Amino acid sequence: MRTVIIGGGVAGCAMAAALRGTGFGENTVMLERRPLGAPSGMGFILMRNGLDALAEIAPELDWRTAGREITRVSLRSRTGRIFAESPLEDAVCVSRTTFLEMLRATVGRTQVLDGWGVRALDREPSGATRAAVLDDGGRVEGDLFLACDGAQSRVRRIVMPDAELGDAAVLEIVSVAESPALAARLGSTFRKYHDEEGGLAVGLLAENDRQVVWFIQIDASRWPIEQPSPEALQRFAVERVAGWAPEILEALDATDFRRSHLWPTRDLLPLPALHVGNLALLGDAAHACLPFTSQGANGALVDAALLGSLLGKVSTRCEIEDALARYSRLRTPHHRRMFIEGRRLRAEFLAPMPVDGPRIPMVI
Ligand SMILES: Cc1cc2nc3c(=O)[nH]c(=O)nc-3n(C[C@H](O)[C@H](O)[C@H](O)COP(=O)(O)OP(=O)(O)OC[C@H]3O[C@@H](n4cnc5c(N)ncnc54)[C@H](O)[C@@H]3O)c2cc1C
Repeated sequence: MRTVIIGGGVAGCAMAAALRGTGFGENTVMLERRPLGAPSGMGFILMRNGLDALAEIAPELDWRTAGREITRVSLRSRTGRIFAESPLEDAVCVSRTTFLEMLRATVGRTQVLDGWGVRALDREPSGATRAAVLDDGGRVEGDLFLACDGAQSRVRRIVMPDAELGDAAVLEIVSVAESPALAARLGSTFRKYHDEEGGLAVGLLAENDRQVVWFIQIDASRWPIEQPSPEALQRFAVERVAGWAPEILEALDATDFRRSHLWPTRDLLPLPALHVGNLALLGDAAHACLPFTSQGANGALVDAALLGSLLGKVSTRCEIEDALARYSRLRTPHHRRMFIEGRRLRAEFLAPMPVDGPRIPMVI
């Protein structure tokens, strides 16, 4: 049986790794639209559920070495005054590029085709998918299709045209500062700074001895910005945090804004099901969530571990749909919870800060 994975990000690579040792592992192809070596993002936090999924999918690697362990969260005012600090268990800050390289090394015999974008599906009248149709008109046929093509999923738009992404009420500038001194001072603490009026916050965390991942979250209704040039993005960031804690300005000073990214954050309104016939959606394609949950990559890893184990029990083509239906039933409640939690954390972020201080920016 031939498997076609569409999208080679976190969900796609994890799915390829999870299929090793199953009846699907020997005949899988992964189609990734971006050419090899294209910039692949900044960083994120692997949480306990993501680490557990990785231990199941690819136990041969020690995933805690993929970045720096984060053992503490420090919630602060804009000037650095500490509101609250709490210990954090099982969290690792990783560079997305390093993490994807490690994950790609675990895909086994999967054939990886970079620069191969999917633009359409060839489907039977029953709704079953026969082939992925490529940007250049070529076709890749299969028995099982796994859509791992991210929040803006083209596959989802084809098979679930009513699915809706939420509005981008919060923009996030994400980048990396090259600063060994700041990385040393942050140690294993994730610091988050808040504007008491709400709608503006900054996060800093070291991903290794040299680099600090930072982000600025912005209320888009107060500061609407389009995709700006690196210079305009730098001006905007520096203006927004003028007078904030010195370590934030230090991070901006040590940043190459050509490597910075403006991300309009959107979640996906919960889907009624995560599969159609022999095709399943995974990762952001199935449940894009807001960054306040820190669950985007972790949720994708859990999807892959679960679906991999369900597909491991499949031996004939007619059992595929049952496995996908079971995956859908088991994962849907989690996605609904992430959607609700993400919206709640966003509403709190946009409102003036409560007297008892801000909330930890993650759902555990
Ligand atoms: C370039 C990039 C940078 C990111 N940076 C960050 C970050 O710094 N911090 C953070 O928290 N999250 C970041 N994310 C999001 C985060 O990685 C995801 O939320 C999470 O990992 C879920 O993974 P996913 O595999 O479902 O989606 P994604 O990681 O978005 O992967 C989807 C993949 O599918 C590919 N693709 C899309 N359409 C097609 C198509 N039609 N045909 C073939 N391939 C297709 C994309 O090129 C991409 O590689 C980034 C995502 C991307 C794509």
